[in-house]
Amino acid sequence: MSPRVLGPGATIGVLGGGQLGRMMAVAARQMGYRVMVLDPSPRCPTAQLADGVVVGALDDREAARALARQVDVITLDTEHVHADVLEALEPIAPVRPGASVLRTIQDRLVQKQFLDQLGLPQARWAPVDDIHTALAQVGRPAIVKVRRAGYDGKGQVRIGPDGDAEALIAALRGEPAVAEEVVGFAREISVILARGMDGAIAIYPIAENVHRRHILHTTRAPAPMTALSRSQAESIAVTVAEALGHVGVIAVEMFELPDGRLLVNEIAPRTHNSGHYTYGACATSQFEQHIRAVCGVPLGDPRALTGAVMVNLIGDLWSQGVPDWREVLALPEARLHLYGKDTPAPGRKMGHVVLLDDDTDQALATAEMLIATLAARS
Ligand code: AMP
Repeated sequence: MSPRVLGPGATIGVLGGGQLGRMMAVAARQMGYRVMVLDPSPRCPTAQLADGVVVGALDDREAARALARQVDVITLDTEHVHADVLEALEPIAPVRPGASVLRTIQDRLVQKQFLDQLGLPQARWAPVDDIHTALAQVGRPAIVKVRRAGYDGKGQVRIGPDGDAEALIAALRGEPAVAEEVVGFAREISVILARGMDGAIAIYPIAENVHRRHILHTTRAPAPMTALSRSQAESIAVTVAEALGHVGVIAVEMFELPDGRLLVNEIAPRTHNSGHYTYGACATSQFEQHIRAVCGVPLGDPRALTGAVMVNLIGDLWSQGVPDWREVLALPEARLHLYGKDTPAPGRKMGHVVLLDDDTDQALATAEMLIATLAARS
């Protein structure tokens, strides 16, 4: 094996201790890697499964350096670790994906400029210096999104056809933002792929996603689509991954318009909620694939072994205490994943269920039935 290859026994450092890091830790440990995590909480979802934890904020450079000194490679649970922090770690341990990828992604304005430079299609957008000028460019209705650290609809406001735009964006507290036209999409899809250090690419079956209140609700895979449309979506995602020089798993979220055209919504340079179905439904889960990519070992087979539907379990279901999981566990095709989070909160992702079924229409109906049953008791 080349010296850049980190085989089992090596230690992987994860910046951020959420559910993505947790599921990466499961995959890494299964393969015999060790895992260390940096997170403000010693009880975070990843720490519960890691070999060790460095307690500290994600922007605490000293804590991040302390982690870097104990590991062979560093990777991410979240794209909100500042690129400057990653750059400071690069002399200590390899960081994959690298600081330059994060610098392009973590500011929505820079990400949109990057997509424009590649000639990839996206919704009309404009930087918000003056809201009236921005709305003149994108039209109304529009969505205004803060440039940094916004996810799951946080840091976003929708500006309707009329109404006082300045009053509406007051909720963003003057944070730098971009405005986008509201897209009348037919559906949302995401392409998840992994890119290895040697440039090899493994693409997962495309996911079809439904959001509720800006949070992912369900994913169905494979998304029913024509071969032409699939290859267009895949080619957009490959272009993005290659132009970034990305190493690891990456998700490219897209809107599909009623006429079939695709627009890129956003890029997440990490494992992704819409790829959770791969754990169980594909020969290699996105979590194992990410570990393989950042350690420089060959990528695994991304092929689907079955159709699948994933449904998120959001904190609202915990309003009367821990839900009764019996209905979920009674379904032989259902896999329950809980993230070990202590404090449920409305809108917080607490876990998910994957339904393994080639009949994905049936699985979607079952997912809705499960959520309705759990919600009725919450
Ligand atoms: P984001 O955090 O930007 O991915 O937004 C979360 C969700 O909000 C998306 O997956 C869409 O469902 C919705 N959304 C975001 N931007 C737009 C847009 N320009 N037009 C329509 N819906 C959008």
